Formats: sequence, structure tokens, C-alpha cells
Amino acid sequence: MNEADCIVVGAGVAGLTAARLLVAAGRRVVVLEARHRIGGRTHSDRRGGLVTDRGASWIHGIDGNPLYSAVRAFGMPTMELTVGSYQPDSRPIAYYGPDGDRLDQAQVDRFAADVHAFDERLARAIAESPRGTSYETVAEEALADLAWPADRVERVREFVRHRTEEQYGVWIGELDAHGLDDDQVEGDEVVLPEGFDVLAMRLGEGLDVRLEHVVTRVHWGSDGVVVTCGDRVLRADRAIVTVPVGVLKSGALVIDPPLPEPLAGALDGLEMNTFEKVFLRFPRRFWAPDVYALRRQGPAATWWHSWYDLTPLHGVPTLLTFAAGPCARAIRDWTDEAITASVLAALREIHPDADLAPTSVEITRWQDDPFSRGSYAYMSVGSATDDHDLLATPLGGVLHLAGEATWTEDPATVTAALRSGHRAAENVLGQQVAIETLWNGDVAGMDRRGRFG
Ligand SMILES: Cc1cc2nc3c(=O)[nH]c(=O)nc-3n(C[C@H](O)[C@H](O)[C@H](O)COP(=O)(O)OP(=O)(O)OC[C@H]3O[C@@H](n4cnc5c(N)ncnc54)[C@H](O)[C@@H]3O)c2cc1C
Repeated sequence: MNEADCIVVGAGVAGLTAARLLVAAGRRVVVLEARHRIGGRTHSDRRGGLVTDRGASWIHGIDGNPLYSAVRAFGMPTMELTVGSYQPDSRPIAYYGPDGDRLDQAQVDRFAADVHAFDERLARAIAESPRGTSYETVAEEALADLAWPADRVERVREFVRHRTEEQYGVWIGELDAHGLDDDQVEGDEVVLPEGFDVLAMRLGEGLDVRLEHVVTRVHWGSDGVVVTCGDRVLRADRAIVTVPVGVLKSGALVIDPPLPEPLAGALDGLEMNTFEKVFLRFPRRFWAPDVYALRRQGPAATWWHSWYDLTPLHGVPTLLTFAAGPCARAIRDWTDEAITASVLAALREIHPDADLAPTSVEITRWQDDPFSRGSYAYMSVGSATDDHDLLATPLGGVLHLAGEATWTEDPATVTAALRSGHRAAENVLGQQVAIETLWNGDVAGMDRRGRFG
């Protein structure tokens, strides 16, 4: 007899969501996870008694978002922090000009109005662009259309580059013109003071999750799947594979026979980005009160331009900045000390009199993580938005792919991971399942095998 009705590869939010819904529907499910922990790219570090979300932090828009419903149902506290989507002005931001001086409110308003005017033109340029156009090309077309003086153009140009890098961890010329089509935020953005990984822990309760099981091969055919994991082989009727695009493309996990069209072409167009976090904690807050973020303009801020004030999360003065796209690639081999010195030098330019001696610095290295190989997927030039959904096309009713990169509407997010896991479970079951089953369903009543953790 098969070990399980369904094997789920990967215990991130997509895999746990799918497994939980299947178990609630009475299926026998085994989840195989390479790491020694669940959660995948939601990973909360609790060293020193402080919670640091090294992977996802934000729920990007809570309205109509089942992720937010899940978080609320699981009793996880949230805190509003609506600047996570590189918005120019939805909440107070302390802007600093190219000379390092703080802009006054009238200057900020003029700049934000320029960004909004640009975005309107940009939407038109994107809609009219032929397939295979880069985001940089459409951005330059929109800027040329506006015919502004050079310095106004330059401020908006650098803003758009930074937005591309912070949203998708990629240089603007490498992103498809449609690569930010999903960039709509419905409602407030929130962060999770107790850590994003509480979600994974709650989703994983009662499931048969086997940690430190690195899957190297998934063979699929009309009689089911055979999954190889080290020297062990597991069989099931079906499999849901939720590993990141970076793992799928690396060959570290072989799909056998290889993915056919349209999945193969869709996978070709999606690439893993480079996007790292730098958390700096200070003995006292030296930056402007009552702002959500600090943002510097000008050539000196090509790499380090935005710092998000996370102090309200835990009461400890904390700034979060990102190494994104070209910056993340360039600093890949730097030591933590060298990265810290570079970030502090940039901060010193806008706060020359501050005591810039952090009590701790945490820097992520997702691009070197063998089980993610980057932070999330972006659309390379020539790909199409629905490549995401195509990647989830069920294969022979036996093999299903899920994960953030397989959800067209809002890819690259935890919401996408959750929704894609839900879809995969529905495809396996051949029927619709209410998403509320995720938090209301009877999983605890199932046969637990005591393997979790
Ligand atoms: C730095 C960073 C910041 C982010 N910020 C946000 C944010 O603010 N908001 C947001 O919504 N999203 C954010 N994201 C993206 C979000 O974290 C992901 O979209 C989401 O967590 C992906 O979930 P998943 O289940 O698709 O993949 P994963 O979480 O990656 O799960 C896949 C699992 O498969 C496992 N695996 C890999 N290879 C194997 C193998 N060979 N065998 C067995 N198991 C394997 C992995 O270990 C992993 O646990 C961020 C990501 C990063 C890295």
C-alpha cells in the first residue's frame, strides 16, 4: 500500500495549506521538508528574546485577503505599517534630498504628485507595450512623455528603480514590463509582532511533517508518484511540489519525466531574485519621530535609500533596510561587518550628529540558501503574467505544483503561497473547499503520527 494518498514536498505556507486542507478532507498526507524547521520563507528568529522576521514581514493589503483572515483566526496580533509596498506617500515618510537635507512637506507633496502623474503614464505605456519589453523601457517612455526638467525626471527615475528593486529584488532592465502588474494594495498593510512563522506553526499542527527530508526526485506517471528522499523512496497517488522556482530550476530536485509545456515555458520565464534584509538595532532612536520610514534621494542613495522604523513592533529602536537587486548581488561575498559599515555610512549622511553604534545587526543570505536560492520569483523580460498560473497546471491529475510563483494575481507573497496551496488541494480533491476549513477544519481529529517537529 502507498505510504500516503498525497505527498507534499515543502513545509512552507503553500505546502502546509495544501496538506491541512487535504487532511481535513480525510486524506492521508505526508509532508517532506528539507530544512530542520517548517515555514520556509517565513522565518522568525527569536535570538536574544527579540522577534526578527528574516523572510516575509508584511501582509500587503488586508482587504479580502484570506491570509489576513487566517492570521486573525489563529489569534496572531498585527500592527499597521502601510509602507511595505514602496508607496511614496500613503503614510508619513521623512524624505532627504540628494544633498542630505530633509525635504519640507511642500517638497514631499510635489515629489509624490510627480510619482502619481508618472504612474498614470506608466500604466498606459505598459498596456501598449509589445511582449518582450522591459520595465526600464516603459518607464523611460513614460518619463520622456512627461517632458519635465532633468532633476524632476531623475528623482522619479531613481524612485522607480528603487521600487522595482524593493518590490521584486531585480534591476529594472531585467524585469518584464508587466512584472509589477500585481502591485496593488487593497487596504492597510500589517506586520506581525509575534513573528510570521506562528502562521506556519498553526498550519502545521497535527500534520505528519518529516523534517530534514531533502527530496531529490519526483517521478510521476499514470500509476502515481515515487518520491526519492536520500536513500528512501515513498509512493503515493499524488504529489504537490511547493519548492521555490530556484530549486526547480537548479536541478537539485529532478521532476521525472521533465515538466512538459505549458509548465516548462512558464518556468523558463520566472527567475529567482536577490533581496536581503538588514536589521539594525540601536540603543536609542535618533531619527525623526512619527514617520514610518526614512528615504534618501540622489546618487549617494543608489544602494541604501530606505529605512523602515520597526521600533513600534517591540519597543526597541530598530531600522530595517534592504539590499535589493544589484546591491544584493554586489555585497553577496561581503562580511557582515563590511555591509554594516556601508549602511551606517549612508545613514551618517542624513544623520551626521547621531551616535551610530548599533547594539545588533542581522543580515539575511537568502541567495545562498540551497532551499530557496533567492527570495522570491520575478518575471524576466518576455514572460507573461499568466505564466504563474500555467506553472500550476495539473499533470495527469497526479502531479501538482504550488507556491508563491504559481499564483498570477499576487505572486511573490505569502498570500500567493496560501492561495496556491488551497488551489492545489482543490485540484487533488476534485472539488471546491472553503478556505475557512484551514482554521475551522478538523485536523486534530485525524490520525496523528507524532512525527511533527
Ligand atoms: C527576505 C524576504 C522578504 C519577503 N517579504 C515578504 C513580505 O513582506 N510579504 C509577503 O507576502 N511575502 C514576502 N516574501 C515572500 C514570501 O516569504 C514567500 O512568497 C512565501 O513565504 C513562499 O511560500 P512557499 O510555500 O511558496 O515557499 P517556501 O516558503 O519557500 O516553502 C517551500 C519549502 O520547500 C522546502 N524545500 C526546498 N527544497 C526542498 C527539497 N529538495 N526537498 C524538500 N523540501 C524542500 C523549503 O525548505 C521550504 O520550506 C519575502 C521573502 C523573503 C525571502
